[in-house]
Amino acid sequence: AGGRGCRMIRGAQIRDVLDAAHNVLFDCDGVIWNGEAAVAGAPEVVRLLKRRGKRVFFVTNNCTRPRENYVQKFSRLGFTDVAEEEIFSSAYCSAAYLRDVAKVQGKVFVIGCPGVLKELQDAGVPVAEQGDEGPDVSVYNLPLDPDVKAVLVGYDERFTFMKLATACGYLRDAECLFLATDPDPWHPLRGGRITPGSGSLTAALETASSRKATVIGKPSRFMFECISSQFDLDPARSLMVGDRLETDVLFGANCGLATMLTLTGVSTLEDAHELQQSESPEKKDCVPDYVVESIADFLQALEE
Ligand code: PLP
Ligand code: CA
Repeated sequence: AGGRGCRMIRGAQIRDVLDAAHNVLFDCDGVIWNGEAAVAGAPEVVRLLKRRGKRVFFVTNNCTRPRENYVQKFSRLGFTDVAEEEIFSSAYCSAAYLRDVAKVQGKVFVIGCPGVLKELQDAGVPVAEQGDEGPDVSVYNLPLDPDVKAVLVGYDERFTFMKLATACGYLRDAECLFLATDPDPWHPLRGGRITPGSGSLTAALETASSRKATVIGKPSRFMFECISSQFDLDPARSLMVGDRLETDVLFGANCGLATMLTLTGVSTLEDAHELQQSESPEKKDCVPDYVVESIADFLQALEE
């Protein structure tokens, strides 16, 4: 493979890239917002892309909110024209996978958060009780529900040893599915702090169970398949814009999309150049076709 360009672009060069794309897929955190603040110009970029006839989708590994909650967040941050149907989160896609692909016949044990539980409920996927965490419960007498046919791990600020042990108990059965919402190792918080991501909890369970989780979120192809099953997308006419090389850009490469790194989030241009020097094909797939400082740079290209 010739390798990807990692080309820093602006102005008319951005216009050419956008002209070639009919569908634009945006990662959320680090691309269109950072926490509770919209990236400057992002609402206008989304509005103008739509006015130009582009189809716009939001593809987030953040499983903590159900879709309807994202609609509220978009609106709160000044995005006035984002519909629920355009938002694909790892929680929504995990529920879709369990219902439509795995067609799981039984309950799901969840290590996760209310966003995951709400999406499973909306998809009609039954969830197992969390189990009693009372003083009498120990690793010797963990209550295991015989109807559990899948374990789903996502971001869980109430992760406990007992949840880990219970999930491990279910995974002893080789027929029990093992899914992870996303592989993200950590996330930036305000003030230079970070929080551990779903990937760190999945790693604990992978070690304990000697099994590997099937990842639903980016960089797995499933999120693109989920969008494609509802909207007929031509990968060759689609652009993925993200801030994390090993999830967003690799996702784009895995799905045959053009890829763009924006520098308003986690990964830096130096990170991209370092991957470009690597011999490993998987690392090379994390190198974007294009780099922009911010999606605000689209404005000039769209306004003319
Ligand atoms: N998961 C959690 C819990 C997060 O807080 C974040 C970012 O804030 C993400 C995932 C990553 O989201 P995205 O894929 O939109 O960057
Ligand atoms: Ca991101």
